[in-house]
Amino acid sequence: MGELLQLLLFIAYIGGCWKAARIANDKGHTAYYVLVVSILLTPIAGIPMAMLLKDHRPEGKECPFCKEMIYKEAIVCKHCG
Ligand SMILES: [Zn+2]
Repeated sequence: MGELLQLLLFIAYIGGCWKAARIANDKGHTAYYVLVVSILLTPIAGIPMAMLLKDHRPEGKECPFCKEMIYKEAIVCKHCG
């Protein structure tokens, strides 16, 4: 029983770390350091940290050709330009 509980906690821990990394990644940050912080300080610290990060995504629009997000002043993205 103890082992099962440990396994569940481990899965929850990894899931929480992954969640924190995903939040950071969605905001345009390097997920790596949030993942490291989550692993070292538990996801209980990592998830709020990721949520507090400023949104680094460029405010803008989609490239008309490939739908990648580009700056609003740009006409096409770096791949299509
Ligand atoms: Zn493009």
